Amino acid sequence: MSDRLSRARGAIAEAGLEALLVTNPYNRRYLSGFTGTAGWVLLSAEGAWLATDFRYWEQVGSQAPAFALHKQEGGQSEWLPGFVEALGGQKLGFEAGDMTVAAHKQLRDTIAAMPAPKRPALVQSEGLVERVRAVKDDEELLSLERAVQLGDEAFNAVADRMQPGWSELQVAWEIEKYAREHGAEAMSFATIVGGGAWGAMPHAYPRDVPIEAGKPIVIDMGVIVNGYCSDMTRTIVLGEPDAKFQEIYDIVLSAQETAEATVESGMTGGQAHMIAHNIIAEAGYGDRFGHGLGHGVGLEIHEHPRLGRTSEDVLLDGMVITVEPGIYLPGWGGIRIEDMGVLENGRFRNFTTAPKLRMVGA
Ligand code: ZN
Ligand code: ZN
Repeated sequence: MSDRLSRARGAIAEAGLEALLVTNPYNRRYLSGFTGTAGWVLLSAEGAWLATDFRYWEQVGSQAPAFALHKQEGGQSEWLPGFVEALGGQKLGFEAGDMTVAAHKQLRDTIAAMPAPKRPALVQSEGLVERVRAVKDDEELLSLERAVQLGDEAFNAVADRMQPGWSELQVAWEIEKYAREHGAEAMSFATIVGGGAWGAMPHAYPRDVPIEAGKPIVIDMGVIVNGYCSDMTRTIVLGEPDAKFQEIYDIVLSAQETAEATVESGMTGGQAHMIAHNIIAEAGYGDRFGHGLGHGVGLEIHEHPRLGRTSEDVLLDGMVITVEPGIYLPGWGGIRIEDMGVLENGRFRNFTTAPKLRMVGA
């Protein structure tokens, strides 16, 4: 935690600010360890404070011992001035990407009503803690690897039992049930199951429709362990796939494995994307790979950095990213393969072990 605070303080200083008011719940948890659903973190070069309401005063003491508790009592105009007055005259960043227009107006009004010498100067800031969060520490890597392991286990357990006739909803439920029974706190997102033509939508929601033999089935799923998300996609087929499946699967697999083998720290997210894009485009399906190659994963399922055509995010050692090219053919279906791993010594180390191309019940 102390390393997180010093890295965040470095980012605050680099942005030309004296302190940062953190309202994003993931940033709050990352910096303080506090998992409650409501609270404001204030971080300056010297101090670390956490304001929250009565429900959490005891919890803050045990989860966030490095933070001084500021008790929220009454409306914002009552508790906030005392929370920020030590920063009178200084530049206080706020998280613009996390604030509604209404919340911003309320914050501005509260600060404007403070006596001038105690009033900090509000400065819009964006993505500051998010960029710190993108590079994971050892404790986070451990949680992320455990989440991937459990996700893989849940997938394997269900893929081994799946039969034609199960509905997409049942597939999703069996995966979620296994995950929860084996220690997942929650799913990273609602499990995606897309059988046949339905899988041509990259984010196919599961339907009460039976899966069929011979058709591609896209399963995209993840579990949460210690607050950290996993993310994995496999495309499988029950019984014999058609020739199209073999053709498309090979292209996607080759794009995916080439990207994993050649992505390097120091590249931009755009450059990483193009590794896979070029392979898919050369095979004639460039316009059928319409989304980005991947994304960072951590406390949130989609985090900095972004791997996509226009991304200038620079990939760094310690970032945990997904590699997930896909090809989607309306009327036929989709194939996507997604692994998750860490950039380490300049290269991608895969966490995901779920087998690719599982021919079940052939
Ligand atoms: Zn996914
Ligand atoms: Zn993903």
